[in-house]
Amino acid sequence: MDDDLSAFQKIRTLYVQVPFCPERCDYCSLPVSLKTERAPAYLRALFREKKRLMEREDLSGIETLYVGGGTPTFLPPALLEDLLEGLQKDLPTLKEMTVESRPDTVTPDILHLLRSCGVTRLSFGMESVRSEHMRFLGRTINVVESVRFLKFVRNYFPGSVSMDFIAGGEGFSKDAFLQEAHALFSEGLEHLSLYPLTVEERTSLKGRLIRGEISSGTEEAAGVLWEGVVRELSLMGWFRYEVANFSRSPDTVCRHNHLVWQGYDYAGIGAGAHQRIRSVRTINVRSLVSYENRLSLSGPPFEKREVLDQNERTLEILYTNARLSNGFPLSWLFCQDRTNGGGETDLSDLVEEGYLDSGAYSSGRVIFTEKGRDLLDGVMGEIWSRLRS
Ligand code: SF4
Repeated sequence: MDDDLSAFQKIRTLYVQVPFCPERCDYCSLPVSLKTERAPAYLRALFREKKRLMEREDLSGIETLYVGGGTPTFLPPALLEDLLEGLQKDLPTLKEMTVESRPDTVTPDILHLLRSCGVTRLSFGMESVRSEHMRFLGRTINVVESVRFLKFVRNYFPGSVSMDFIAGGEGFSKDAFLQEAHALFSEGLEHLSLYPLTVEERTSLKGRLIRGEISSGTEEAAGVLWEGVVRELSLMGWFRYEVANFSRSPDTVCRHNHLVWQGYDYAGIGAGAHQRIRSVRTINVRSLVSYENRLSLSGPPFEKREVLDQNERTLEILYTNARLSNGFPLSWLFCQDRTNGGGETDLSDLVEEGYLDSGAYSSGRVIFTEKGRDLLDGVMGEIWSRLRS
């Protein structure tokens, strides 16, 4: 896979972390601040980091900018405008700019601003279609009727719209969610993500679990529910191009995430941001104060730096491609076999057991079936162990 790997050593995406939110949701482990008074200092640090990155790396091929968080649209409008304009500067080949948001932070003026700043895609954290579930997730806002909200957004924003939801946890209703997903599909929503509820460290949800306020089987039950729901979404017509991501058609996938999953190098700036460039993976400090201090002293903002060896990098690229509907070429495994001095790995038993698509396998690709995707980690672990044996 040597040649293929070097083809991926090109930075095509830039992720920007904007860690400000109107509230902290119980399941969220991201570093966020509720105080936008702190935003001007943070943005200064962010631009310092971008400048630092541009001095060291060639960003001329960046195609996508993903401004996530946090809730970037929670920033005061003038700051949001400065941020979006400043980020795009010196990125001449930009084709997609996504901004994350939540329904309670957008107004006609904000949507107009996003449009005039060249944003092409909005991704809304809707999370739930039921109030009871929303309360369980620790969100204080009422459920927003998503079809009506989509129509409202369309009045002011002509770009692509995505909505994120969470499956599982008290109050989640499979039927209610599927009804909404069907209505959104009919209404022309371009993209939908559905993640199973997970109980992360350093979250209020974890605290509730430890105190016995929620069932210890919450996470497992959410996984089972999610598996059933994603099958139904595919049957409804949603194109499941990645394990948890659905688009109306191949033209409306999230180009940014797709490039990252395909294995291209990715740059990331901001508190807690991750990046991988030429097999060096870094993770920035999560604390806003430490992040700002480090950049004011012109130091590197990362707290973790690791150099991936060829096996680790290959494994990472195989895993992320395995999540995609298009899988990866069988030849990538054969190259890895040769590197390890072995013969070509036979996966025909995994095809027979229904984990891999048989038509794709006979034409030289490894594509996971629905059953294979449900057990992705286990099946990939098996393939990897055969390559290394
Ligand atoms: S889930 Fe989203 S809105 Fe909630 S705290 Fe995390 S980043 Fe903010």
